[in-house]
Amino acid sequence: MRINRRNFINLSSLGIAGFTLQGFVNKESMQVQKPIVIATWDAGLNANKGAWEVLSKGGTALDAVEKGVMVTEDEISCCVGLGANPDRDGHVTLDASIMDHEFNCGSVAFLEKIKHPISVARKVMEKTPHVMLVGEGAQQFAISQGFNLESGKLSESADKTYQQWLKKSEYKPVINVERQNSKNANSQLEDKYKAPTRFSNGDWNHDTIGMVALDANGNLSGSCTTSGAGFKLRGRVGDSPIIGAGLYVDNEVGAVVATGQGEDVIRVAGASAVVEHMRQGKTPQEACRLVVEKIRRIKKEKAADIQVCFIALNKNGEHGSYALHNGFNYAVHTNEGNKLIESPFSV
Ligand code: ASP
Repeated sequence: MRINRRNFINLSSLGIAGFTLQGFVNKESMQVQKPIVIATWDAGLNANKGAWEVLSKGGTALDAVEKGVMVTEDEISCCVGLGANPDRDGHVTLDASIMDHEFNCGSVAFLEKIKHPISVARKVMEKTPHVMLVGEGAQQFAISQGFNLESGKLSESADKTYQQWLKKSEYKPVINVERQNSKNANSQLEDKYKAPTRFSNGDWNHDTIGMVALDANGNLSGSCTTSGAGFKLRGRVGDSPIIGAGLYVDNEVGAVVATGQGEDVIRVAGASAVVEHMRQGKTPQEACRLVVEKIRRIKKEKAADIQVCFIALNKNGEHGSYALHNGFNYAVHTNEGNKLIESPFSV
């Protein structure tokens, strides 16, 4: 079993007893770490700041995870929000989902020209009897709820990347491993962090901002939002809007969100599977590891071509992650600050 030594030390230094290397938690002696928010990738640092504005004032985890990922939806990056890479026909299509502490959930998929899909997902959850709306119907619903219809024009960076892609027009997910700037990222990124320019560096073409939080009242919620995979087939939907795959929250146990090759997260009902391992007493990291290893077994030698990562937070505020390959990191915000943690990985 790989131990995320840094997490272990952090918990120990906070005086949290009962955390053992076997992954068992003595709940009676456990001091709950709250509020806390964690989010995928280094974009999670800025997103966490947005969430922390809510959590630090005693706000709900649900409000926090919506506000948090909206920060990333507003940034220009390869893979989140309207500035992201388009599908192969040149349209940006967005997926998002949100889930609260009472199994309420909402999601949108294949949504175009709407700036904040996460907020539309929340409206689906709160204002309709449904869980998921897609495509034109999701857009119509968004407009009916007062969201603006944006132009659909590609961002400068996405347009440049798309023109480049058109030369070959081949669909080839670029695996997101061994990232630039991921070394020593903790120290320097706190306030100076700027939106990533990863795809323009030729690094990869898929990514998600996923976030889970535990509020001062001890309630969990989660959210995620993405453009999915750049240059995907028109109509492709990933794991992020699929409740149980890209995101799952069970307030008795924990909350989990995924990033990476969505098709393979859907295959194993990824986020829900991680929650179930935590229910059986596994630590967040160990629970994530078990599901990543399952995907690795299923994919066999094809596991070399994909990246899959989970982050998890349990009821006690313990967090962990696991990735198939090196290069994944996630941001953690507590009362002690906001920092980036390099994820343990399988191969
Ligand atoms: N999971 C996303 C999708 O497949 C992409 C990613 O997170 O890398 O749509």
